[in-house]
Amino acid sequence: MECPDCGESYVSREVGPRWPPSTQFGDAIVDLEDGESAVLHRQCWTCGWSEDRHLTVTEIETEHGDPEAITHQQQLTQLVNELEQIDDTEVVKEILRDVRNRRSADIEPTGSEDGE
Ligand SMILES: [Zn+2]
Repeated sequence: MECPDCGESYVSREVGPRWPPSTQFGDAIVDLEDGESAVLHRQCWTCGWSEDRHLTVTEIETEHGDPEAITHQQQLTQLVNELEQIDDTEVVKEILRDVRNRRSADIEPTGSEDGE
């Protein structure tokens, strides 16, 4: 990505607080526990611009062991690409809700009364 301030591309991206900085942001989100926050820290090495973005897992569903988890992760990868274009936390939260809604929409409505 390019720095929104000076346009240079020397922008580092780190995930925290409990993941190694090299962790993919999508992986960190999938790994989040309920109510836990991830921080995406970005810093420009040219002009010193930096930004911390906090995301909380309550906006999405994590289902470990679910076959859909792979699809979930793919969606999150796309989500991260979108996140890099956006500087407003509220917009990011809306995207997370949208991902959740899209997951629901992917499931064929086979009837709400099939007992299982
Ligand atoms: Zn910069």
